[in-house]
Amino acid sequence: MTAGSNTLSRPPSRARRGAPASFPAGSPIFERMFTRLGCRGRPPQFAVEFYPYASLCHTIRLRGDAASVRLSDLLRHAPLPILEAAAALLLSRIFRRPVPAELAEAYRRYATAAGTQRRMQTLRRLRGRRRHFGPQGDAHHLAEIFCRVNADYFDSRLVLPEIGWSARAWRRQLGVYDPGLNQIVINRRLDRAQVPGLAVAYVVFHEMLHLQQSTGRSRCGLGIHSPEFRREEKRFREYLQARKFLARL
Ligand SMILES: [Zn+2]
Repeated sequence: MTAGSNTLSRPPSRARRGAPASFPAGSPIFERMFTRLGCRGRPPQFAVEFYPYASLCHTIRLRGDAASVRLSDLLRHAPLPILEAAAALLLSRIFRRPVPAELAEAYRRYATAAGTQRRMQTLRRLRGRRRHFGPQGDAHHLAEIFCRVNADYFDSRLVLPEIGWSARAWRRQLGVYDPGLNQIVINRRLDRAQVPGLAVAYVVFHEMLHLQQSTGRSRCGLGIHSPEFRREEKRFREYLQARKFLARL
């Protein structure tokens, strides 16, 4: 999540992590699938890019009538029917439409194929994990916060992922959950005594909602910050206080 906005963005990727690449041919695919799935209303304006996730993971974010889509760049050379299937899977989640069985099956076959698995392993080796300094900070301990929030809001059901303070201070981004790496990294700018524990706990809570989503039935490929997500977020007791503090940061 980022300060003062509702977007989830990620810190700039270093060259070896790959770079996002816009995929203009992607929007007609999404428009087609929007119709094929029988989604109601006018299709949103799709902006599609390939994103260097470390696994076969795709995300879609709907804001007003704009939909930002990030397809794992593992799909960069995938055949058209696979791109269509990925689009259908993403759309089905935010528009709550069933995915035609033949598309779901085609995607499953592609994802589990030996060649795809091999390329995924190579990518993971190349891209590695986001660097962080572990959970013990100067002012706040992230693993302790995780456990407290887990008990308060998730019946302690979530399994502690890799969690740590970012190696560098990020300018805008507050935290990130990477489903491919099962890793939460929090901006080290928040690791100061002046930052109240409730603000750090709220950022961790936000990333934990992403973690919860990714381990649910809709693993990898969810509506990031859907209206449902936003409702869930308001379960955090000091929601307004935390948002107010973070907006000033
Ligand atoms: Zn988020």
